[in-house]
Amino acid sequence: MALNVSFEFFPPKTDDAELSLWKAIRRLEPLAPGFVSVTYGAGGSTRERTHATVKRIVDETGLKPAAHLTCVGATKAEIDEVIQEYWDAGVRHIVALRGDMPDMGAAYAPTGGGYHSTPELIEGIKAVGEFEVSVSCYPEKHPDTPTLDADIDLLKRKIDAGATRAITQFAFDTDAHIRFLERARRLGVKVPVVPGIMPTTNFKGIVRMAGRCGASVPQWLRERFEGLDEDLETRKLIAATVAAEQVERLQAIGFDNFHFYTLNQADLTYAICRILGIKPGVKPLEAAA
Ligand code: FAD
Repeated sequence: MALNVSFEFFPPKTDDAELSLWKAIRRLEPLAPGFVSVTYGAGGSTRERTHATVKRIVDETGLKPAAHLTCVGATKAEIDEVIQEYWDAGVRHIVALRGDMPDMGAAYAPTGGGYHSTPELIEGIKAVGEFEVSVSCYPEKHPDTPTLDADIDLLKRKIDAGATRAITQFAFDTDAHIRFLERARRLGVKVPVVPGIMPTTNFKGIVRMAGRCGASVPQWLRERFEGLDEDLETRKLIAATVAAEQVERLQAIGFDNFHFYTLNQADLTYAICRILGIKPGVKPLEAAA
């Protein structure tokens, strides 16, 4: 089984942030990821910056970019224009999402005249061009969903609309990834389910993010980071170890695709890829399983 990785970035807001993003891209590029993706701000707030980052990746690297796109805050015509601009810029992969309201925490409400749901958005994307489409999924269930099975049913509708890959929300509970894959397969999901891996040293930030997106923060993880607020070096080592343990376990049971939430930092992702056996200039090693 060939091993495949992809890296996610967010569009930078300042010149300094742009420099640091490009340092990360250049460091990770030699690892030959299957694709790199660029997020879209809540409510479409980064439309121009996402486009500019994706376009620069097309123009200046050998990487294949995927642009994230959400249904929120725009009419179908406006979103179709964004999709067309991507097609014209040579982008052939979109990560299609429902998205969140710009006012984080507000209940989701479809935009009048817009795409109401992810399956509808995927149909809109496919009407513009034969894009590859990836979507999200949630091992610990999306906060708006009544049951995990309802979430998986929605995932199947996204696949029926044309998605060919499901990237998971990060989940530190590795068993949740495994249970989710088994359940999704049982319910008929056949596309690759790609664990989203979150290697981060900012534990407090992760706890906040996890609370918003319904991911649990296990007690063992809290204990590992406890008392280390002023000790970045140790947090780095722990973050790399936690993510490495997770990918190694998932790899051993047959997961062969991993998506890294890089947070525009290369170091941890680079180290974990090395642990997976991925080196610059060398084709990814065969997975152990
Ligand atoms: P979906 O999987 O389509 O739906 C999630 C749940 O919402 C459903 O199970 C359902 O219960 C409910 N729901 C769906 N449609 C409706 C509807 N019409 N009315 C009411 N409820 C509904 N966010 C960004 O803003 N920008 C990004 O770039 C971005 N990238 C992401 C990448 C990945 C891999 C992941 C996992 C998430 C990302 N997100 C991003 C976060 C995502 O937008 C939020 O989690 C959002 O709440 C759900 O979007 P979704 O596409 O995952 O929703």
